[in-house]
Amino acid sequence: MSDSFVIGGEVIPLRSRRLIELQLPPLYTHTPMTLPVHVIRGARDGPRLFVSAAIHGDELNGTEIIRRLLKQPSLRRLRGTLVAIPIVNVYGLIHHSRYLPDRRDLNRSFPGSETGSMAARVAHQFMTEIVHNCSHGIDLHTGAIHRSNLPQIRANLDDPETARLAKAFGVPVLLNSNIRDGSLRGAAADNGTRMLLYEAGEALRFDEVSIRAGVKGIVKVMRILEMLPPSRSRRKILHEPFIARSSTWVRAPVSGLFRKVCGLGSRVKRGDTLGLIDDPMSGEETEVIASAGGIVIGCSEIPLIHEGEALFHIARFEDIKGVAGQVESFQTGLTPDEVSVNIEQEEPPIV
Ligand SMILES: [Zn+2]
Repeated sequence: MSDSFVIGGEVIPLRSRRLIELQLPPLYTHTPMTLPVHVIRGARDGPRLFVSAAIHGDELNGTEIIRRLLKQPSLRRLRGTLVAIPIVNVYGLIHHSRYLPDRRDLNRSFPGSETGSMAARVAHQFMTEIVHNCSHGIDLHTGAIHRSNLPQIRANLDDPETARLAKAFGVPVLLNSNIRDGSLRGAAADNGTRMLLYEAGEALRFDEVSIRAGVKGIVKVMRILEMLPPSRSRRKILHEPFIARSSTWVRAPVSGLFRKVCGLGSRVKRGDTLGLIDDPMSGEETEVIASAGGIVIGCSEIPLIHEGEALFHIARFEDIKGVAGQVESFQTGLTPDEVSVNIEQEEPPIV
């Protein structure tokens, strides 16, 4: 492979750091729009990794993860190329919206086309300028609006190399999914670009644990790809993450005001009460019952719910006890209270 790297018509040499602005369709107010892309090239060529955030314009944890990633001092010793896109859906971000102005979901519009819908054109540009240039990718997401996710990696774990990267990321829960539904991940796989999808936290919110786990995870993946030198820390905690066998959503049996009695990371058994829904007029109370046992990896954060709405996402595992213990130590290890014992953490925590 040639060691040249061209993006937006610009040749980026080795040992350089650039901010490239790719031209996007302008707003109808005549306001120009660009897609800012950070490109960092090491002294030697190697893997080419893109890290993208806010492909859903209201999912913000990834944008903060990339801000912190770009400040990592170890990038001075980078091998290969890091391509970081902190806000992919710049249009959606302006409106606090998941979607593009044409009301399409960008992550259902890949690989896109040059002459298609607005979403298809943005997707096509992302494919040709970013994905075609990269050997690996990590796409950063959060739960949808009013939904929170336990930090988790979704990837095609049937591919041994992708599974190796997913395990290196260091979150306790992995979901195996091999989808082809217009997502960036599906289009990247067809291009031969190996990808992980990181899901953590809630839309329109910063969550410190999710952000820290994301920064650490990307750095660990870059180490295993030998883009960064190995950690000098002696504190090597290499837990084997757990792969979910399957997952299921528990939905609201009635409409009303919803209270959770268990949260993210909770270990639940089939038949357990997960929450309560009150009818504010009659005072009648209905229990939300677990339809399966497992670990809560996603849940609703808003008390106002209608019958049929998804309330809890439960993942099933072979070794439920093992995963519960690891989720607990993972969560406590990254909470802001632990900041004084964590020497790698230079950022003041968001609380
Ligand atoms: Zn998303």
